[in-house]
Amino acid sequence: MPDTPAPEKHEFKAEVAAVLKLVTHSLYTNREIFLRELISNASDALDKARYTALVDTDLEGQALEPSVRISADAERGLLVIEDNGIGMTPEEARSNLGTIAHSGTLQFLQEAAKAQAEGKSPDVQLIGQFGVGFYSAFMVADRVDVFTRSAQPGSEGIHWSSTGDGSFTIAPTDKEHRGTRIELQLKDDAKEFLDRYRIESIVRRYSNFVMYPVQFAGEEKDGEVQWAQLNEIGAFWTRSASELSDDDYKDFYKHVMGGFVLPGDEPLGRLHLSMDAPIQFHAVLFIPGRRPADLFNEESKHLQLFARRVMVMESCDKLLPAYLRFMRGVVDSEDLPLNVSREMLQENKNLSAIRRQLTRKTLRLLADTAKEDRERYEKVFEEFGVFLKEGLHLDNAHKDQLTELLRFSSTGHDTKWISLREYVDTMPEGQDAIYYITGRSQAELRGSPHLEALRERGYAVIMMTDAVDEWVVQDLTEYDGKKLVSVTAGDLDLDGKKDADDEADAAKEDEAPSAELEPLLARAKEVLGDKVSAVKVSRRLTSSASCLVDDPAGMGRNMERILAMAGREVSARPRILEVNGDHKFVKAAAALVGSGSDNATADMWIHLLHDQAHLAEGEVPDPKGTVERIQAVLDALASR
Ligand code: ADP
Repeated sequence: MPDTPAPEKHEFKAEVAAVLKLVTHSLYTNREIFLRELISNASDALDKARYTALVDTDLEGQALEPSVRISADAERGLLVIEDNGIGMTPEEARSNLGTIAHSGTLQFLQEAAKAQAEGKSPDVQLIGQFGVGFYSAFMVADRVDVFTRSAQPGSEGIHWSSTGDGSFTIAPTDKEHRGTRIELQLKDDAKEFLDRYRIESIVRRYSNFVMYPVQFAGEEKDGEVQWAQLNEIGAFWTRSASELSDDDYKDFYKHVMGGFVLPGDEPLGRLHLSMDAPIQFHAVLFIPGRRPADLFNEESKHLQLFARRVMVMESCDKLLPAYLRFMRGVVDSEDLPLNVSREMLQENKNLSAIRRQLTRKTLRLLADTAKEDRERYEKVFEEFGVFLKEGLHLDNAHKDQLTELLRFSSTGHDTKWISLREYVDTMPEGQDAIYYITGRSQAELRGSPHLEALRERGYAVIMMTDAVDEWVVQDLTEYDGKKLVSVTAGDLDLDGKKDADDEADAAKEDEAPSAELEPLLARAKEVLGDKVSAVKVSRRLTSSASCLVDDPAGMGRNMERILAMAGREVSARPRILEVNGDHKFVKAAAALVGSGSDNATADMWIHLLHDQAHLAEGEVPDPKGTVERIQAVLDALASR
């Protein structure tokens, strides 16, 4: 045809050529994101057409329904992505697709080179982050043909073509309407992308909430292609909460959770925010119905981040503090750049502002749930309480709110869980501290001899059985002006004697046990040696014979357990053995020691008092010795 000029050949700019080389030869995993990139470009082009049309009524193709259409030609191995957006003039096509390197190109190459130097393969996600998304087409295609026509009236169509080596060609072409059609000649190992279901799942995964319909070409009917819509159109989160039903949210939750939610795992709460000032953003956040399995490893998923309705990060850990990582959902902002990298996000002021808002609102959501629906909140707490406790430790700014969100079980309350508020509000007259005990299980704690004196006074004791509770009591030393006091503290002072006038009396009681008991205490310390730091007469026991209490200078039994569990070597500080001077067995032991008649038996009884105190805490540090001593007592009984 004499009219058709020969295609012009152009060299790629050096950086672009380098990107292409990398893309075609080094990136093999996660190649499916090429589709996200091309759909995102198409969606941008449709956005631009929409905005431009507002001021320029001459624009070509005003009557067209905006869409992104995907079709697959299995015979020719062609995948086609077509939009009717703003298109490109010949000049734009030349510069945008090859001769001008985007500002991000160099950075992309540097990052990729760095990854390679470290022996890692470059992260394919980088492609979108650095604004070189179009070139990702070469991950799956041997040749890419772009047919485009600008919406400017009178524009000519242009055909851009390249095999991704050093050059591309440009030639005029007839194109009926504005927009861009990209034809990918798929590589032999990329034929999977011809499959409709594969395409559909990629679209749903990454581009489900693009503002325009993304369609797939189906069978022809009466000479017309039937287009099937793959995405949800329009961002769910931009819709007004008042027009959305519970079922809509449930569907969206399912989408957020990757399409699968077991019955009974429906979300325990939700938040739908639309903010305009100072930063524009939408967010739909859920408290999941069940603790996601990945929360304790580094791959843990976070909120999805969208910029202008295009997903820019599948899991962004900068949107909420780490301790709220159990929240799931989507954040979309007009005020974030499309091409973001994790590093850039770190310094982004708008993102920090979004994070502050989301943190505040999430804590408010939790507080409202607690207020409005006790049962539901208890479920939330059972699943996620441990994270709130982590927050108490890490987020000083929200310590008060987090404290109100904590729940504990108590020896003196019938309900399964109580808040500190409830504890304080139900304290009997005369009680001026909040008492707690830490240990491994409620069953073990309920039987603890340490509780005896408190039970007698009608004081409830908070039972802390979570490994992190020892941290909680380090961070939370006071609530509503009341101190948190461990009932296993060696210096427990239930009647406030320490502060009272009769301080001298109390001291006397500590220092000078009765004459009958004194020899027992002295002998016990001698027999037990380093196993205990002291032996004292107890003021907290009523029915048990003995118990172990923390030496005020020590670190606390539970903290020792936590450290031991974490593999840290702990030199357990010996604790104080307290004996109940009113107990029959203690009296008998004291008499035996005093008489000096049978030292061997007396020493064994002393050991048994020590054994018992351990047993009450569910521990047997010396099983063999303990069994032998019990057996000796039983033998003596049997031969009586
Ligand atoms: P980015 O989209 O991040 O700018 P790309 O390499 O993906 O980087 O695209 C380069 C440029 O090519 C875009 O900025 C845009 O101007 C143009 N372009 C790409 N795809 C299309 C399209 N479908 N319609 C119109 N212009 C496009």
